Amino acid sequence: MESFVYTANPGRVIFGSGTISRLGEEADRLGAKRLLVLSTPEQESQAQDISAHLGARVVGIFSNATMHTPTNVTADAMKLVDALQADAVVAIGGGSTTGLGKAIAYRTDLPQIVVPTTYAGSEATPILGETEGGRKVTKSDSRILPEVIVYDVDLTLSLPVLMSATSGINAIAHAVEALYAREANPIISMMALEGIAAIARALPQIKENPGDTAARSDALYGAWLCGICLGSVGMALHHKLCHTLGGMFNLPHAAMHTTVLPHAVAYNASAAPAAMAALGRALGVADPARGLFDLSKRLGATMSLKDLGMPDGSVGAAVEQAMSNAYWNPRTPESEGLTELLGRAFRGDAPEKI
Ligand code: NAD
Repeated sequence: MESFVYTANPGRVIFGSGTISRLGEEADRLGAKRLLVLSTPEQESQAQDISAHLGARVVGIFSNATMHTPTNVTADAMKLVDALQADAVVAIGGGSTTGLGKAIAYRTDLPQIVVPTTYAGSEATPILGETEGGRKVTKSDSRILPEVIVYDVDLTLSLPVLMSATSGINAIAHAVEALYAREANPIISMMALEGIAAIARALPQIKENPGDTAARSDALYGAWLCGICLGSVGMALHHKLCHTLGGMFNLPHAAMHTTVLPHAVAYNASAAPAAMAALGRALGVADPARGLFDLSKRLGATMSLKDLGMPDGSVGAAVEQAMSNAYWNPRTPESEGLTELLGRAFRGDAPEKI
C-alpha cells in the first residue's frame, strides 16, 4: 500500500424509501424551529407536500432556485431568511436547489437539511459555484457542507428518464476524476468504483422501467458515493472543461457533462493507466472512454455539444479560456489536444485517444 492522506467530511445521511417522514425528527436533532424550505419553481408543489412533514416548523417556502446559483437570486432568498428569522434551510431538489441552500449557509452558517431528487451529488460536498455577471466562481468552505442529507428514493421516481441518465453520468464523472486525482487515495477510490458500478448498472434498468425502485435505489446510493468523491479530492480536466463551457455558453449542466466525459477520459487514458483499468472493470468494458460513450448513447443522451447549444466556431475560444488558468491534470493540457477533444465533442464523434 502506498502512503496517502484521507480527510473525511462530516455529515449525517438518512437513506431509504419514505424517509421524508423523518424530516421533523432531523430538524429537532438540529434544534431548528424556524425552517425556510427551498425549491425550483418546477418543484414548488412537491416542496409544499414535503413541508407537511415538518408542520409548524416551516416559516416559509422560497421556490425560485435557479441553475448555477446566481447571486441576485441568493440575495432575494437572504431577504426572506432575515425577515422570517429562519434558523435552518431545507433544500428539496437537484444541484440548483442544493446550491441555493449552500449559498445561504455560506453567508449565515445556518444548518442545512438537503433532500436530493437528482444524482448531482452536490449535497455531499463543501463546494459552492455561484454566478455573478456571467462568471461562475467556485468556493470551498466548511460552512457550505450540508449537515444532514435525507435520501428518499421515492422522490427520484419522477425524474424523467433522460434527466436520470445525464444526471447519473454527471455523478460518474465525479468518481472518474477521483480515480486519477492528485489526492487519490484507496478509500475514495473504493467509493468511486462502487459508485460508478452501481450507477452504470442502474441506468439501463431505469430506462427500461423508470419506476424500478431497486434500480432507483442503486442509482441514488451511487450518486451519494460519487458526491463524496467530488467533495474529497480535487477534480481535473473534465470538470475544468465543463466549468468553462457552462460559464461561456450556459449549456445544460448534466447533459454537458455526459457529452464531454468520454473525450476527457480518452485524453487522460495514457497518463492514468491504473485508474483506467479499474474504471474499465467497474463499467465491465475494455475501453472505458468508448464504454461511457456507448452507455450514454444507449440511454438516449445527446452526444454533441452543438446540439446542446454550443455556438459554431466557438471551440477555439473555449480552449483558450480552459487553458488560461493552470490546474492539475494527470496529462498536461495543451491547446492542440484540447481543440481535437472539444471538436470531437462538438460534433458528437466517438472518443479517440488523442
Ligand atoms: P437541477 O437541480 O437544475 O434540476 C434540473 C430540473 O429538474 C429542475 O427544473 C428541477 O426542479 C427538476 N427536477 C429535479 N429533480 C426532479 C425530480 N425528481 N422529478 C422531476 N423534476 C426534477 O439539475 P442538477 O443537474 O441536479 O443540478 C445542476 C446544478 O448543480 C448546476 O448548477 C451545477 O453546477 C450544480 N452542482 C454543484 C455541485 C457542487 O458540489 N457544488 C455538484 C454537482 C452539481
